[in-house]
Amino acid sequence: MADVMEAITSLAKRRGIAFQSSEIYGGLRSSWDYGPLGVELKRNIRNAWWRSMVQLRDDVVGLEAAIIMSPKVWEASGHLEAFTDPLVECLQCHQRFRADHIPGFHAPQSGHEEDETTVDLAHRPVCPNCGGTRFTEPRNFNLMFKTHMGPVEDEASAVYLRPETAQGMFVDFVQIQQVSRKKVPFGIAQIGKSFRNEITPGNFIFRMREFEQMELEYFVEPGTDERWHDYWIEERYRWYLDLGIREENLRLREHAPEELSHYSKRTVDIEYRYPFTDWGELEGIANRTDYDLRQHEKHSGQDLTYFDQEKGIRYHPYVIEPAAGVDRCLLAFLIDAYHEEEAPTATGGTEKRVVLKLHKDLAPTKVAVLPLSRNEALIPDARAVFDLVKVHWMCDYDDAGSIGRRYRRQDEVGTPFCVTVDFDTLEDRQVTVRERDSMRQDRIPIANLVAYLKERL
Ligand code: ATP
Repeated sequence: MADVMEAITSLAKRRGIAFQSSEIYGGLRSSWDYGPLGVELKRNIRNAWWRSMVQLRDDVVGLEAAIIMSPKVWEASGHLEAFTDPLVECLQCHQRFRADHIPGFHAPQSGHEEDETTVDLAHRPVCPNCGGTRFTEPRNFNLMFKTHMGPVEDEASAVYLRPETAQGMFVDFVQIQQVSRKKVPFGIAQIGKSFRNEITPGNFIFRMREFEQMELEYFVEPGTDERWHDYWIEERYRWYLDLGIREENLRLREHAPEELSHYSKRTVDIEYRYPFTDWGELEGIANRTDYDLRQHEKHSGQDLTYFDQEKGIRYHPYVIEPAAGVDRCLLAFLIDAYHEEEAPTATGGTEKRVVLKLHKDLAPTKVAVLPLSRNEALIPDARAVFDLVKVHWMCDYDDAGSIGRRYRRQDEVGTPFCVTVDFDTLEDRQVTVRERDSMRQDRIPIANLVAYLKERL
């Protein structure tokens, strides 16, 4: 299975989807850059999320809050105190790890000191790097990136890069409710960068220190929260299926009570079967109760309640939060779409074909226009066809190399349609349209091309 990841990281680098940041300086661990095709794929993921969460609903509105918020936000939200991971250091090789990522480690229970005699030797934690079995005691390591605002570097100027986008929705709750005139239940959605100083980043873009989140905070009347929680779990699960993720690679996982975040009453993760972890979190759907609104009310002194005019009652709404990561989604979509097949060649044999069977809405390029050769006679028509389609979709114009090779280049980045302009085109005003998955070819009049593609894209 590891070779799937190798194939994908190498494809991602070779075709400019995603690659190591600052590579000319040897790279920066956990930072990744998205190239031309990655930018399109990422934008398509964001757009699919926004469309389903905001555009197609009348009960959700958008927000773009600042990344650097008042430090008081993080005091009130509990992140300064509790947004930590248990850090341990191997006493042999001095590498640092998240204790909860090493099998056999359990966080020290209060009132229960573990000693040598109670440790089950067969299940002792083992250093993933050197095999050592002695570690420092776990200590809480805060994951927030700290910096300073303004020219003076002192405690008074300390600010944090947000570790989640959610707090923007909580502190702006009253403003957004008033300007949008939405009644509870309603939601505020945001897509944007978040930052976490992860102890062990890795697995390509699965765990980064700078990443992007797509979060919805959905405000509901207390007492209706459990029902809405179930509703959003189902909605979000279906979103991945609708975008082509295979159901056998998707599952829901209920958090155990000891695993819940400090604000959560219940959390269910949508997990994907990533090749490197077996199952890994793709999205978390939490019932954050009224914790955040109450905390901000307490710390800011502002009234953050909602008044239900019909019922004549005032309350702090409960919040259901579906929180997904753009980068983790992108990785899951890539893995799920990646196929290696045997395809027939022109000479009657077969050859390996790599094809990304991405959902059409996600494919970075929708249509590739390919003149059969670089022959000058073909250029005006090929250019005219490109001009015709580029106003509707992201298109590519490629005239370099054999046509077979160009088909393969488009297949491996998931382009749903290739349109070939050949010498017959000059006579019959028709082009050949090749579909990615079936490799079926249709001869279509140029005059009908846009309508033909619109029906299928
Ligand atoms: P994990 O347990 O894997 O550390 P988490 O439970 O802390 O994740 P959440 O706080 O629920 O994650 O964040 C919501 C989503 O944001 C995650 O499901 C994931 O898609 C994304 N995400 C969180 N941390 C990272 C990261 N370091 N790199 C990339 N994406 C991330």
